Amino acid sequence: MSIVAIVGRPNVGKSTLFNRLVGMRKAIVNDSAGTTRDRHYGTTDWCGREFSVIDTGGYAMGGEDIFEAEIRKQVVLAIEEADVILFLVEVSTGITDLDMVMADLLRRSSKKVILVVNKIDNNDQIYSSHEFYALGLGDPYCISAMSGSGTGEVMDAVIAAL
Ligand code: GDP
Ligand code: MG
Repeated sequence: MSIVAIVGRPNVGKSTLFNRLVGMRKAIVNDSAGTTRDRHYGTTDWCGREFSVIDTGGYAMGGEDIFEAEIRKQVVLAIEEADVILFLVEVSTGITDLDMVMADLLRRSSKKVILVVNKIDNNDQIYSSHEFYALGLGDPYCISAMSGSGTGEVMDAVIAAL
C-alpha cells in the first residue's frame, strides 16, 4: 500500500490533520524508542484509492526547543519510507528557521512533496499563504485541519501524485 507521511515542525497541526484524514478508523500507535516514538499509522481512502498515513510527531522535546538534528532525522525517515510527503506549515508564524531546514531536505529528495499551509481559518488569510512560495516547493495548498476546509483538494493532489 502507498504511504503518505505528514511532516512539519511541532504545533503546525500534523496530528489534527492525521486525525481528520484517518477519522474513526483504527490508528496504530507505534511506541518504539528513538525517532519513531509516537509515530501514528493509519489508513484512509480517497476516490477509491486506499493508502497509509503516518503522523511523524514524536519529538523528544516540545515547543521550538528541538534540535535541528532531530528534525533532520524525522524528515530523512519520512523521505525513506513515504511515497508522498505532506509538508505542513502554519500561516500565522510565516516561514520559520525550522521550516527552512525541512524544506531544504525535502527539495533535495526525489519524493513528491505537497506543501500545505494550515490554520487558514478564514479566507483573508489565503493572501498570507503566498509567502510560502519562497520555500521552493511549488503551489501551497491552503487548509484548516480543524474545520477540514481545503483538505479535499490536498487529497486530490495526493491521489494524483501516487
Ligand atoms: P502537531 O504538533 O503538528 O501534531 O500539531 P497539533 O495537531 O497537535 O496541533 C497544534 C495546535 O494547533 C492544537 O492546539 C490544534 O488544535 C491547533 N490547530 C490545528 N489545526 C488548526 C487549524 O486549522 N486552525 C487553528 N486555528 N488551529 C489549529
Ligand atoms: Mg502531533
